[in-house]
Amino acid sequence: MTVERFLELVERHGSPALPLATWRAEVGERTVQALRRAGWLESRPLLPGGWFPCPSPGGDGCPRRLVELRGEIVAVCGQEIEQCADVVIADADAEVLAATPGIDLRDAGSGAGAG
Ligand SMILES: [Zn+2]
Repeated sequence: MTVERFLELVERHGSPALPLATWRAEVGERTVQALRRAGWLESRPLLPGGWFPCPSPGGDGCPRRLVELRGEIVAVCGQEIEQCADVVIADADAEVLAATPGIDLRDAGSGAGAG
């Protein structure tokens, strides 16, 4: 699991605003859903002009930038020699989720209850 992982992320980043796909990779789909039900994640649209995490951060041009290509949002590596694969963001995944400000994380262990 993964509520612990969520807490780790929040602690590390303050209030992490991460693309839905990244949350899924970090904590798993079930936990994302549980956290949303519990009101711990705020959603906003993922838009061109934003950023998308790289698997191996560091270097000029990372993290990936979100651009619009032929009506789709694509995360592209900004490095001259691309270090990270492009990621096409499905419409259904075009969401950025951030930890809701002011949630009481000390309740987290029992609260979200996902495994
Ligand atoms: Zn990159």
